[in-house]
Amino acid sequence: MKEYSSILAAVIPVLILSLLLLYAIYYSYMDIIYFFLFRYAGLSRIKFSSQKENFIVSELQKIRFYNNLSTKGKKFFLNRVMVFMLSKKFFGDGIKLSDEIKIYIAASAVQITFRIRRFYIDHIHLIRVFPTSVYSRLAQHLVKGLTTGAGVMWLSWDNIREGFQFPDDGINLGIHEMAHAFKLTIQNDGYHHLKNEFDDWMLASQATFMKVQEGDYSFFRKYGSTNRDEFFAVSVECFFEQPEIFANNYPSEYNSLCLLFNQDPLNSSNDYRIERNYNTSL
Ligand SMILES: [Zn+2]
Repeated sequence: MKEYSSILAAVIPVLILSLLLLYAIYYSYMDIIYFFLFRYAGLSRIKFSSQKENFIVSELQKIRFYNNLSTKGKKFFLNRVMVFMLSKKFFGDGIKLSDEIKIYIAASAVQITFRIRRFYIDHIHLIRVFPTSVYSRLAQHLVKGLTTGAGVMWLSWDNIREGFQFPDDGINLGIHEMAHAFKLTIQNDGYHHLKNEFDDWMLASQATFMKVQEGDYSFFRKYGSTNRDEFFAVSVECFFEQPEIFANNYPSEYNSLCLLFNQDPLNSSNDYRIERNYNTSL
């Protein structure tokens, strides 16, 4: 009995230390662990406390894209937002990170990949959030957001919030930066099956991009003339925020974006499914 107690006395501290160590590893590498679970182990659902889940729903109800979804679509959207919040590394720079901030950033990503099976934008490893625009040495000017080739995304919270407050002005920082990350994911990390669709969009939009470069800002804003990457990000903002004008005036570009994102923002009554017979050669 005495021997048994001494074994226990030796084992228990080791067990406690091991558990603490495991927890520390889990806490430090939570995003990487979930990344592998979601990507390779088939984990697709997650559960938060009902209080936290209710809060997330109450915030999502302020987003037009979410409000237009069916009950099933809303559940699907919510689950993906929760997965994104949990599995990406967020860092507040001069701002206290709240669930509210994470919800809007996650919703930006979930919106653009809503109808894509592999929704996880693999390219993003770290999201740095600032209270407002910040000076970037890389860009050498103040930026509202940026996405680096190394997988770091910078976002200013005031601009993220404003993007969703005005859902039809064609300006949404979250969508813009997620579009950059989406393109980089196609190029570098995954979504290779979408490479053809992306190339089709490049072809379909070439003439319009040149017109914007020549000064035609009648629909796409001036910032889109900076380069092809910015034109893509600006186009994706317009695709989601002004789909009707986009589709009427630039049907070929609009249709190729529908095929790339596998969704039609005009079909808000049926969870944005593609139901028209789109053809990129239009
Ligand atoms: Zn940009």
